[in-house]
Amino acid sequence: MSAIAAVLLKPGKERSLARRHPWVYASAVADVSGAPASGALVAVRDSQRRFLAWAAYSPASMIRARCWSFDEHDRIDSDWLVSRIEAAVARREELQQVTTAVRLVFGEADGLPGLVVDRYGDFLVTQLHAAGIDAHRQVLLDALCRSTACENVFDRSDPALRAREHLAQVGGVLRGAAPPKHLCISEHDARYWVDLRHGHKTGFYIDQRDNRRLVGNLVPQLRARQARAPRVLNCFCYTGGFAIAAALAGAQAVTSVDSSADAVELARSNATLNALEPPAGRAAASAPGALSAVQFDWLCADVFEQLRMLRTEGRRFELIVLDPPKFATNQHQVERAARAYKDINLGALRLLERGGMLMTFSCSGAVNADLFQKIVAGAAVDAGTDCFVRARLGAGADHPTLLTHPEGEYLKGLLLERT
Ligand code: SAH
Repeated sequence: MSAIAAVLLKPGKERSLARRHPWVYASAVADVSGAPASGALVAVRDSQRRFLAWAAYSPASMIRARCWSFDEHDRIDSDWLVSRIEAAVARREELQQVTTAVRLVFGEADGLPGLVVDRYGDFLVTQLHAAGIDAHRQVLLDALCRSTACENVFDRSDPALRAREHLAQVGGVLRGAAPPKHLCISEHDARYWVDLRHGHKTGFYIDQRDNRRLVGNLVPQLRARQARAPRVLNCFCYTGGFAIAAALAGAQAVTSVDSSADAVELARSNATLNALEPPAGRAAASAPGALSAVQFDWLCADVFEQLRMLRTEGRRFELIVLDPPKFATNQHQVERAARAYKDINLGALRLLERGGMLMTFSCSGAVNADLFQKIVAGAAVDAGTDCFVRARLGAGADHPTLLTHPEGEYLKGLLLERT
């Protein structure tokens, strides 16, 4: 084992690794011996040269090494990597009974830092964001294809993230066929068109699956309680995930808002796909297969402005979803993000009927759950509303959080009930 390169930490810098946090920051490194190549296996040692972890070396990254294992007895070879892939895929087996869109590998949480793999039907979509993953790319892809029986791998690595790590750009078809322009996925009783090539993230907000399901459960609850089918407002609707879930569950009307015309167009075709709306250009009456008389409103608009306009118009809703983009990408943006979160939550709460529900999210890692709750509480006070916290929400089970790596938990939400 002495041939393996080593990363030696400065005194005291072993603490976070001792707590099994999987990152070694460049500023913690005292010395690197053995001239490891990019992505090569290194042993991380404390200032007394005691073993701490096996890791992949990232010579150009602020995160200089990402840990594979804290067990000195582990042999980090192809078999070990394959077993990690197999374990990650096995962990999601049950989920694949209810959906054809699943996150199969979620980086650190699955012991594969820098690797994200989403499965959409017969397609695997990858994000390769670390040197250690690049160094073993073929082994990892082989294992993924074998354990899923998928032959098609399409890469959607973030060019900016790869540039930051000094990794040559990848992207596009890595194995098999190119994805179709739109691929149809199914999730519970809903179906969605997904654009794997250009859609957000890897094409779809897979992480919101459980919350779409929750919306589907809340609609009949609200109907039973209020003796009328709820009117739903879905802000930042993207391709209509929450809108379709609400409509399928029997909402009376669903108003969706997004500033992207492409997203709204795909959202509308998702309504058609689910037989909730007739194809564009045809009147509702000519759609004999239509399930229900849900009234869709698709607004290509700015949510901040639209919330004010809806208030001016005197509109009211029994269920509102707020799922905005990441308002803070780092600590410096938290204050500005807090104002934006407060603004939309205030606007939404002012439109919410008594007894109605607000499902509000933040996917900004820099805004933690405590701060998010404080922001929303401030909005509720300003709106003159009293609310219960009915549930705390997060990403689905295919986006697990490692107890020792809380940074992995980016999505947080609150389900509030207005009293
Ligand atoms: N709720 C969606 C995901 C939202 S992603 C889902 O479940 O699939 C964030 C969306 O917000 C994107 O579609 C983006 O186009 C939209 N967006 C960003 N800023 C906006 C703004 N100010 N007003 C309206 N939409 C906005």
